[in-house]
Amino acid sequence: MMQKEVSNLKLSDLFAGCHNRQRVPVFKMLIGGKWVESENGRTLDIDSPIDDSIIGKVQAATKADAGAAVEAAYGARKAIRDIPAIDRIDMLNKARHILDAHRDDFVKTMVLEAGKPIHMAEGEVRASGNRIKMTMEEARKIFGEYIPGDWSEDTMAKFALVIHEPLGVIACISPFNYPLFSIVAKVVPALVAGNPVIVKAASDDPLVSLLLGRVLQEAGVPDGAINVITGSGKEAGEALVTHDRVAMITLTGSTEVGMRVAKLVGMKKMHLELGGKGAAIVAADADLTLAAKKVLEGSLKYSGQRCDAISRVFVEARVADRFVGLLLKEYDSWKLGDPRDEHYNMGPLINPRASERVQRLVDDATSKGARLLKGGKHRKSYFEPTVLDFVPPEAEIAIEETFGPVVTVMRVKSLQEAIELTNASRYGLDSCVFTNNFYTAWKVAKALEEGSVSVNDAPAHGVGYFPFGGNKDSGLGREGVGYSVDEMTKIKTIQFNLAPAGLGKTHQTLKM
Ligand code: NAP
Repeated sequence: MMQKEVSNLKLSDLFAGCHNRQRVPVFKMLIGGKWVESENGRTLDIDSPIDDSIIGKVQAATKADAGAAVEAAYGARKAIRDIPAIDRIDMLNKARHILDAHRDDFVKTMVLEAGKPIHMAEGEVRASGNRIKMTMEEARKIFGEYIPGDWSEDTMAKFALVIHEPLGVIACISPFNYPLFSIVAKVVPALVAGNPVIVKAASDDPLVSLLLGRVLQEAGVPDGAINVITGSGKEAGEALVTHDRVAMITLTGSTEVGMRVAKLVGMKKMHLELGGKGAAIVAADADLTLAAKKVLEGSLKYSGQRCDAISRVFVEARVADRFVGLLLKEYDSWKLGDPRDEHYNMGPLINPRASERVQRLVDDATSKGARLLKGGKHRKSYFEPTVLDFVPPEAEIAIEETFGPVVTVMRVKSLQEAIELTNASRYGLDSCVFTNNFYTAWKVAKALEEGSVSVNDAPAHGVGYFPFGGNKDSGLGREGVGYSVDEMTKIKTIQFNLAPAGLGKTHQTLKM
């Protein structure tokens, strides 16, 4: 039965008959259950970082379009909230099956618009399905609490029920690097907790968000409870986050954008997953072969375009030559090329501007004394896997988020120096330590001012089974299977007075 329903959905319907003269598909956006154009007819080009060709056009939502999406969501609050929880779970499980049946559409779109290597795009689709499944399991734990009042004089003969309620309209703003997973991780807990949502995906790769909107619509999410708009962060994004009827903003993106949004929105609930500057601390007693392999993987996977990437490596000086030698030995397993070809495990950065930015960081480091051991050049969006050694702490690449495929090695005299340099950063998302001594691992993990610390592994948020999130300028709140559902509800306390019915206990002062 499910298979039949699933096979009836053609995601290509999204742009059928909607080509412009150059036969470039033009995608509409989803507002209030209808696929619509922007009110002024403007569109944005979507370029593929693979070869800079235009692969599609999306609507450039205006302030009025964003307002229409918020009104549609506001009007759908009752529709989503009134669906019994078990039916909401069925609906989202159906979405998971539809997503799975259209895995190839999602993978191909992600490879084309984000330049993601095939195996990574497949991994993201799989992780998204798993995240939906685990969220449904966790959603069953939204219970609340019964609190008897006779533990306090002023609540004698009373009790309270503490219940979780939906927040209302939630604006979900996502980054380019996980165009499917980061939206699933926001939209699914929001819907299962009874909130209508508006998605605004990154303008570099928004096509996947439109496909997901179609899947959720097909799965039976009520009209208006899922809206997907496209358009610039500056216009459509700001119109969304500042709208009076939006109750919560969940945004994953850069620290700069997160801070701007935080300043704009005033008293709204916010969940911010922002930038990071992950450190790997390699102790002299570490398994250096393991550390080198994990450091390369943590720095180069998806060309370093991950908030949980390792973007600086502090290695104790007495083992540094051996460690760097092992890094260079493993380096050749990283192959840069067309992400449509499975032979390559690294593809382009998201656009040529991103490559130019990383080039500036690498050139700045070498001009300040860093030694370039491998790579270091780009062609259009393709940046070579790069290894820098002896990077001085004043180099920009030692301070700012890299978001490119660079292993940044810094030699330190002691673990204490590594801890201090790590904590000197304004970021506090993820870091890791490599050591074979339990007490060293514990000491470093406790001392780091990070949201998460991994021991003998590169940081990875994965499906979110373990919670994650940032301290300092890396964000607010925690994401994770159950944590995200919690973030998307509010607590109401309902107090019952039993005294009028002669029920409940009365206070007696004990006479000694
Ligand atoms: P970005 O430039 O900050 O954009 C993120 C989203 O915000 C996009 O949808 C963007 O729309 C929108 N936006 C931009 N300006 C806005 C504004 N004034 N008001 C409202 N929305 C606005 O980030 P990105 O380059 O796509 O993604 C990379 C960043 O995300 C990195 O810093 C990375 O560390 C971070 N990230 C963090 C996590 C985490 O878990 N902590 C996970 C993934 C990524 P446009 O695209 O239209 O500008």
